[in-house]
Amino acid sequence: MSSTPGMLLVISGPSGVGKTTITHAIEKQVQGAVFSVSATTRLRTLIEADGEDYLFVTNEQFDEMIQNGEFLEYAGVFGNRYGTPRSWVDRELAQGHLVILEIDVQGAVSVKRQRPGALCLFILPPDDDSLIERLRGRGREDESVIQRRFGEARREMEIARNGGVYDIFLVNRNLDDAVARVVALVKHERARRGLA
Ligand code: 5GP
Repeated sequence: MSSTPGMLLVISGPSGVGKTTITHAIEKQVQGAVFSVSATTRLRTLIEADGEDYLFVTNEQFDEMIQNGEFLEYAGVFGNRYGTPRSWVDRELAQGHLVILEIDVQGAVSVKRQRPGALCLFILPPDDDSLIERLRGRGREDESVIQRRFGEARREMEIARNGGVYDIFLVNRNLDDAVARVVALVKHERARRGLA
């Protein structure tokens, strides 16, 4: 599949680091960029739309999707399951698109193994304080969930640093700046591969 004309961009990073904002900015600023909507067994929050942020499914539906080979990769994160739709991704790649996967470290390991040409990016917070402040600022979860996510985030950053999967680590000090750097990076990489 690495001969397909498109390109896979994996974006990982702890909750609250600004991944989603960066991802959507790339989608707007890079021609042919599309966001892969994962399936998840997690409950939908009030600010999320089914089919846009995630495809919200039951555990039974998720099992069925695994059995049907529908996932390029899937993983358990924070007690829920998340999976990337294989056929959609391949269709978009075949059309020459930049397919953005916003997935965790386990997913990135699996994708890089299957598709070595994937460009894997890990977004880091400037420091722990700013990460916890951003988690609170999202207003999405209560404090106990925030503390758990903070602990998970630190672990995830450690695994990412030692995993050898990520091509680039980018510190998100300022959102506009981070977006500009990712967009430049993607354009450079696409041009280098003759996909511009
Ligand atoms: P959240 O519940 O905050 O939306 O996402 C929790 C974590 O699951 C994030 O790190 C997110 O990147 C990751 N995630 C979302 N979709 C997928 C997926 O399809 N596969 C994997 N492996 N991780 C995912």
